[in-house]
Amino acid sequence: MALLGQMMSMPLLISSLIQHAARHAGDTEIVSKRCEGDLHRSTWAEVELRSRQLAQALGRLGLSAGERVGTLAWNGHRHLEIYYGTSGSGLVCHTINPRLFPEQIAWIANDAQDSALCFDLTFLPLVEKIAPQLVTVRHFILMTDRAHMPAETSIPNLLCFDDLVAAEDGHYTWPLLDEDTASTICYTSGTTGHPKGAVYSHRSTVLHAFGAALPDAMACTRRDVILPVVPMFHVNAWGLPYSTALVGAKVVFPGPHLDGKSLYELFEKEQVTFSAGVPTVWLGLINYVSSQGLKFSTFKRTVIGGSACPPAMLATLMDDYGVEVVHAWGMTELSPLGTLSRLSSKHLALPPAEQRRLLEKQGKAIYGIDMTIIDDARRELPWDGRSAGNLVVRGSWVISSYYGHEDTPLIPVAGRDGREAGLWFPTGDVATIDEDGFMQITDRSKDVIKSGGEWISSIDLENIAMAHPAVHEAAVIAVAHPKWDERPLLVVVTKPGASLTRDDMLKFYEGKIAKWQVPDDVVFVNEIPHTATGKMLKLKLREQFRTHTLPSA
Ligand code: ADP
Repeated sequence: MALLGQMMSMPLLISSLIQHAARHAGDTEIVSKRCEGDLHRSTWAEVELRSRQLAQALGRLGLSAGERVGTLAWNGHRHLEIYYGTSGSGLVCHTINPRLFPEQIAWIANDAQDSALCFDLTFLPLVEKIAPQLVTVRHFILMTDRAHMPAETSIPNLLCFDDLVAAEDGHYTWPLLDEDTASTICYTSGTTGHPKGAVYSHRSTVLHAFGAALPDAMACTRRDVILPVVPMFHVNAWGLPYSTALVGAKVVFPGPHLDGKSLYELFEKEQVTFSAGVPTVWLGLINYVSSQGLKFSTFKRTVIGGSACPPAMLATLMDDYGVEVVHAWGMTELSPLGTLSRLSSKHLALPPAEQRRLLEKQGKAIYGIDMTIIDDARRELPWDGRSAGNLVVRGSWVISSYYGHEDTPLIPVAGRDGREAGLWFPTGDVATIDEDGFMQITDRSKDVIKSGGEWISSIDLENIAMAHPAVHEAAVIAVAHPKWDERPLLVVVTKPGASLTRDDMLKFYEGKIAKWQVPDDVVFVNEIPHTATGKMLKLKLREQFRTHTLPSA
């Protein structure tokens, strides 16, 4: 008969994170640049108290366990209080991406059946517009103080966040929930079809927070000052609101101020050591510091992911600014962290250029996530750094189904020895994995360019273009070709004041890649469209250039 362990049974609850931070890092600061324009200073202890008061207030409004509370908000202390006040009390925190179209936002809030909606001042006009369509929302809460409440609004019974919190005494005990209780819902951005909700649990969220904080992952420590540039409405700011509480780090929230100048000034003022964000925000920050001839005095490390970090960006930050770049890969369905690129001891003796090749990849799986690549017959492919296949994952913070969908997205995979290897989540990404387990994304399966039976990686071609000094941003898309099915078209935004011709751009590819992979043509545009999470919107580009005639056609 199995022998049971004789240890205290402590469920992995989100409330345990904020309680830990309040008890053991209570005076550590939480700094927020707010929509109201001020720089607000608070502490983990205050955030915990206000989260308890918020939990009381939401209970007083009649919200009960399992109900969803939507947010439309920037990174800031009130959003953090909502994270803990809702999940901690058994409600479900549902962050909504305010950059989506208003109809999509309404659709998502209705799909999740949000009972309350908390939103920043910035989004008052947006909420006024969509409020009549939000059929399940009973309470609208403006995340501000009394002084900033609007004199007039079309929203009935608009509540003031700070008033609600201040009316409560904080005599509240975090409930002992089952650790598998839903804590949070995040919707995928739904670049094709309707967005789908990933429902995280307390257990998966706490385990993810542990995994994310590990030294070979984000390496969060209590000596760090951490500024999440990645929004709290984009897969929970990659778990940073939880990992920072777990280690008791100082947190700096940028609010809506994400331009290069505002970020740089905040980094310097608050002595930020660590940050995380998608490549597009770093473009803005790098452009600002380089045009002003500035350096960072405390900023040492950043995690870049969400889309491929161009090697040229990695080189600029590491070599010119002394900022260590950790390339990461993940997705909403993975809470989101899957892999991060850091060297193992055996790589430390490699020449710097070879180490760099490894750091440019999306990296190795962290404990909690397993991954492999498979062919179209769902057989595992070799980890040789060359065989490209569909990337599948499984683990403690990977979804098993989508909210409101009964069918499972998981698929069976045959292992390399031919044996059944269990159920895996298909990511929709195409990747290679090398002998040392470093994964590299070649493409999203729908973005890969299929030329004469061969695959060309759009990311490889974009990375080369991004290394050209005149290029600000580059996207490569497939365009129909009578002979080859598809051929690559390069879409370029040049840096302000820079000049670049089609021929110069194409010459730049010579010697860097096989001749047949070089793009067939280059078009120059003023702007590349982005999704609400900062990825290049290739679907739109493909539509825009569907009828583009390639010179080779
Ligand atoms: P979406 O709803 O658009 O899927 P996610 O933020 O969940 O939003 O996006 C996940 C996808 O982003 C991944 O499947 C992958 O295609 C892409 N991605 C994330 N990180 C990287 C990276 N470092 N390199 C390349 N692609 C990435």
